[in-house]
Amino acid sequence: MPTVLREPINLLGLGTAELAELVGTWGGKPFRAKQLQRWIYQRGVDSFGDMTDLAREFREQLARHCTVKALDVATEQRSSDGTRKWLFDVGKNNAIETVFIPEDDRGTLCISSQAGCTVGCPFCSTGYQGFNRNLTTAEIIGQLWYAKRELEADVQSARLDDTAASSTRVISNVVMMGMGEPLLNYDRVLGALRLMLDDNAYGLSRRRVTVSTSGVVPMMDRLGRDCPVALAVSLHAPTDALRDKLVPLNRKHPLSELLAACNRYLEHAPRDFITFEYIMLDGINDADEQARGLVEIAKQVRCKFNLIPFNSFPQSGLKCSPPARVRLFAQRLLDAGVVTTVRKTRGDDIAAACGQLAGDVKDRTRIRERLPNQGTIVINEERE
Ligand code: SAH
Ligand code: SF4
Repeated sequence: MPTVLREPINLLGLGTAELAELVGTWGGKPFRAKQLQRWIYQRGVDSFGDMTDLAREFREQLARHCTVKALDVATEQRSSDGTRKWLFDVGKNNAIETVFIPEDDRGTLCISSQAGCTVGCPFCSTGYQGFNRNLTTAEIIGQLWYAKRELEADVQSARLDDTAASSTRVISNVVMMGMGEPLLNYDRVLGALRLMLDDNAYGLSRRRVTVSTSGVVPMMDRLGRDCPVALAVSLHAPTDALRDKLVPLNRKHPLSELLAACNRYLEHAPRDFITFEYIMLDGINDADEQARGLVEIAKQVRCKFNLIPFNSFPQSGLKCSPPARVRLFAQRLLDAGVVTTVRKTRGDDIAAACGQLAGDVKDRTRIRERLPNQGTIVINEERE
């Protein structure tokens, strides 16, 4: 670790060991790294001068060489129902989005892992944008760091000091369902997940952190070994012929491989289940035949289904299944004993939907014109 630095080191995103090594270069003991982590992540402090239980000399070293910096916010929107959305600038006129979805018993933050996505699913506006770049660990965890600070500042200013508000964390769950395919940016996402779980950082239980993947089989195996958080798999079709079209990655990792990987994953999380996400596309994947196919899949993997009404956009040429069809499809699964939920839509006034996030700042106005009144998807995760 260099001791003479031109660019300040961003402490955001450094793991406990890396931070301990850095602190060690100034003769600091490893527990100093933990103290520092608690200041940064739990108290959201970015000014070293305010870290009052650290020795003055240490604070001065930190101020000389380091910084705590999340991405810059380009815009912020608030829905009347409490949903919040931040657009973060990732440079070169690209942006990523982060969405906070409050519910009665939880607060879910939906974060992005890449600017754009290479998988190119035809129903996803992120896929339509192509791929710009992977986010760094600092940029991924920085979304949580920033959102937590903002939300807690709001709670404080509203003087919400009743027991319920003060005993519940503002952000209780994190889902990697924003822009990008998290398992195609594995190492950086893993760094961020570890910080989410680390007791000196966010201390979330692994079941309150969900990674959503379109099915990057080798990386599902690695995640199972490294950090078996809750896993959501974007299934969308019960056969290879259909899934090849809806999730192009299926041509590389077909269903049989994907389902086997799900079962291997569950070996690392024996009491868990896989959440299969299934987007409802009118006339494409919403017939009884597909429902029967899903029932067969549910016999092979311990799972639940989350049906997602498609948020349409003209470019896609696709339509959402009518509500009655979604209900009937869900009923077919429920009748066969498969646990099934349907995602609700809300936050109509700020046009935010996980998986439908469009980040190009320059193109933003045009995208919003194309997507009038799209609602925010409410994540119906299993309650914990
Ligand atoms: N790349 C990962 C995670 C991000 S997408 C994945 O595909 O799982 C998160 C979820 O949003 C996925 O289940 C995806 O299928 C869904 N999604 C994408 N586009 C959507 C749209 N237009 N309407 C509704 N859900 C969408
Ligand atoms: Fe990428 Fe997921 Fe969108 Fe597919 S649905 S293009 S994998 S972000």
